[in-house]
Amino acid sequence: MATDSPTSASPTSTEAPAKKKRWTSRAVCRTVDAGNSAYCAVCDELIKFRARIRAEQIICNVYVKNRWDRVEHYHPECYEQAGSPYGEPKG
Ligand SMILES: [Zn+2]
Repeated sequence: MATDSPTSASPTSTEAPAKKKRWTSRAVCRTVDAGNSAYCAVCDELIKFRARIRAEQIICNVYVKNRWDRVEHYHPECYEQAGSPYGEPKG
């Protein structure tokens, strides 16, 4: 009468893997705003806004152990040189 879960024999397997959402780090491509103050994670230089060309930056949401950890910014060319660590940037 007390128990209603006959399959709960194993105390450590309480998670259902199929239901768990997996967060993976992602990269997106964005234009650089005039007041941008982000530094490139590779070369450590400011990703500068340039009025005459449409400057772009790669913004990565980095997840560590299935949790959001940080945002990283890259110059597009630096990101490529680093071997696109978070996959192809999405527009
Ligand atoms: Zn850079």
